[in-house]
Amino acid sequence: MSAFVYTNGQLGAEGVALAEVAANYGTPCYVYSRAEIEQRWNAFNAAFAGQAHLLCYAVKANSNIAVLNVLARLGSGFDIVSVGELERVIRSGGDPAKVVFSGVGKRRDEMQEALKAGIKCFNVESVAELEHLNLIAAGSSLQAPVSLRVNPDVDVDTHPYIATGLKENKFGIPYEDALSVYQIAAGMRHINVIGIDCHIGSQITVMEPFINALERLQQLISSIEENGISIRHVDIGGGLGINYKNETPPTAIDYVKSVQQIFSGGPYEIIIEPGRSIMGNAGVLLTRVESLKRTSHKNFAIVDAAMNDLLRPALYDAWHDILPVYKQAPGQGEVFDVVGPVCETADFLGKDRTLALTEGDLLAVCSAGAYGFCMSSTYNSRPRASEVMIDKGRMFEIRKRETLDDLMMGETLLPDV
Ligand SMILES: *Cc1c(COP(=O)(O)O)cnc(C)c1O
Repeated sequence: MSAFVYTNGQLGAEGVALAEVAANYGTPCYVYSRAEIEQRWNAFNAAFAGQAHLLCYAVKANSNIAVLNVLARLGSGFDIVSVGELERVIRSGGDPAKVVFSGVGKRRDEMQEALKAGIKCFNVESVAELEHLNLIAAGSSLQAPVSLRVNPDVDVDTHPYIATGLKENKFGIPYEDALSVYQIAAGMRHINVIGIDCHIGSQITVMEPFINALERLQQLISSIEENGISIRHVDIGGGLGINYKNETPPTAIDYVKSVQQIFSGGPYEIIIEPGRSIMGNAGVLLTRVESLKRTSHKNFAIVDAAMNDLLRPALYDAWHDILPVYKQAPGQGEVFDVVGPVCETADFLGKDRTLALTEGDLLAVCSAGAYGFCMSSTYNSRPRASEVMIDKGRMFEIRKRETLDDLMMGETLLPDV
């Protein structure tokens, strides 16, 4: 499932052992496999065979410019949620004409920048946003290409913080209002309605909620078109889940085929915005055991990575597999909570893991390629980890470990008097 496998008892990817990465670049360190990223992207792309489509990788899942560049070289489009992400796409060689701009709170200056860059589409989430965009486009005598993000009000079996398609969520235009908002948009001089969009959540491991949402979207498209507004593309968002523990999410091909079935009636370009399903299992977080602490209640393995490096366990109670870099017989050792040094009880990477550990051992926190580094912070004044890409048997540091100077960059003391 993942590029990271044991070879001769050593965990690594593409012929590079993680122990070698640690020796070269230290820990904590995020490690990605280029081959795995490409294989995941190609699987989606091939599944569309013959159908007009665009893969817009969701930049927020992992926004390192080397990752974006690998995808740009494949011809990928990008789903952005800020001007910072637009700048990253442009600097990585991505094509702005293949960029869709999502997000519930686009600022006016961000709209202006994105319009100037010539992006493919704004995924608009409210009438207020339409009005702002119309005014800004008018100011530059431009037409803003627009999809409306519809909230289909479907339930999704995922963590409540990453469910976005219920009517109580802040995202999208309520389903029952969508037709009238399309009519408003169609009447605006500097808005060019070209598509429809939804995104119902993340880490979704069954097809049913996607199908429910897309069938509702299909019905809505019919009534929009009956009202004389034509839809050129259908953007179904991202959200396809990955295997963290024992999930069995649909494959790229099953996912694409069921989507195609729903929209087989129209000549639409299909846009997808996968993030996690491309990057999640293409990366690990490499960490070293600092010390072991055994109490009468519990054993703790205190490691040099923490919640500031990988927030998902603390934020979503997420489960990540934790593997010893040197293979052990399964079930060997003691039961440990693997924790970081940050002063928060929520600072854990995994609980109740059976491992045989001694100080200095290397561990790999798996499935950390998406929503890993990009959610990291410097909390507790911990410089952010480095990032390394493995590519055909070689390793490249694609982001240097932060220094203490980086940590205080931009800060100043008050003057003496
Ligand atoms: C986060 C997000 C995505 C990507 O979601 P994944 O679960 O990582 O595939 C796609 N589209 C939008 C609008 C998002 O907010």
